[in-house]
Parts: sequence; C-alpha cells; structure tokens
Amino acid sequence: MVCIGRNYLAHVKELDNDLPTEPLFFMKPDTALPPEGEPFAYPDFSSQIHYETELVLRICRTGKNIDEKDAPYYYDAITVGIDFTARDLQNECKAKGHPWEKAKAFDGSAVIGKFKSIKDLYNPNDIAFGMKLNGEWRQQGHSRDMIFNFDRIVSHVSRFVTLEEGDCIFTGTPQGVGEVHVGDVLELFLEDEPMCKFEIK
Ligand code: MG
Repeated sequence: MVCIGRNYLAHVKELDNDLPTEPLFFMKPDTALPPEGEPFAYPDFSSQIHYETELVLRICRTGKNIDEKDAPYYYDAITVGIDFTARDLQNECKAKGHPWEKAKAFDGSAVIGKFKSIKDLYNPNDIAFGMKLNGEWRQQGHSRDMIFNFDRIVSHVSRFVTLEEGDCIFTGTPQGVGEVHVGDVLELFLEDEPMCKFEIK
C-alpha cells in the first residue's frame, strides 16, 4: 500500500505542515490490513491514534514510469479507507527526522472498504466521501480538492516504485482528522454509499 501525505490544503494547515511541491508518499505493508471483518485493535504503544479518511485506488496492472495521460488505465476501482496514524509517535519521528513507519505502518493500520468499479462513477475527479464516527459526520472530503489528482499521483509514484496489480494507493486525507477511542464505531462512505463499518476494540 502506497499512501500520499499532505494532499489537501486545509489538512496541511491543520497539522502546520509545509505545502508539498510534489506528491509525498510512504508505504504500509500487507500486514497493515486487519483480518477481514475484525475490529481495529487499539495498539498498546500509542495513546493518540488518529483516523485519516481517504479515497483509496486499486491498481489493476503493472506499470513503471507511467505517463499522467495513461494513468487512468492503471487503476480500475476505488473505495474509502482509514490511514490510522499513531500521531504521538509520528510527532516524535518528525521532530527527530526519523522515518514514520512505526507511526503509520503498524499491524491493522489500514482499513479499506469494499471496492467499487471506477466505471460506475460519473467522474473520478468529482467524488465526495466521508466518515461518520458514532453516527455523526467527522470528515467529509471531495476529490476535486486534492492538491495532486489521481493521475499525477500514479505517474509520480511509478517513477520510483513499480506499481503492481492489487496495490492500493491511499490518496490523502482532507481536514478534520482526530482521535478514536475504544468502543467508537466508524462508517465510511463513497458518495452516499456505505463502504465499511467497524469498531475500535
Ligand atoms: Mg494519510
């Protein structure tokens, strides 16, 4: 899984980060996917787990040095996911100039909803998405507000890393990130369609 950071202006500002001049990316391993149907297990090494609600693309063919204009041929499905982040550990890593992996790539840190075919969407660059926490809207975003769109992201990442069928790309979170607590229930939506519902355990 490839994850894009700082891709929505209002979110860059809320965390007091600098605006990127190119897509910023990091990765999560397969083991970041929780077992099917399991709740999110709050890890014992953090006391500040944040949700980041993001559109997630699924790569459908192998590609390297993909041109932006060809990028749409390389993804075929989309959903909404949570890039769970141990914000306390991430802030420590950032302060020390260390990599973010322990804050971002831990077991179970990538929850992904069911995928929907891109063909079933009116326009991939015009998608609303969001997350309800305990029944109330907490994050609502729109793909048109991304600093770098899907095609730019796919093209950029593939310059450095060969993309393969089944890879997933988290495309960044809009504003409104915040903490989760044990017992919370999260529901993820693509437009009005529920894509995933799970509990924090
Ligand atoms: Mg994120």
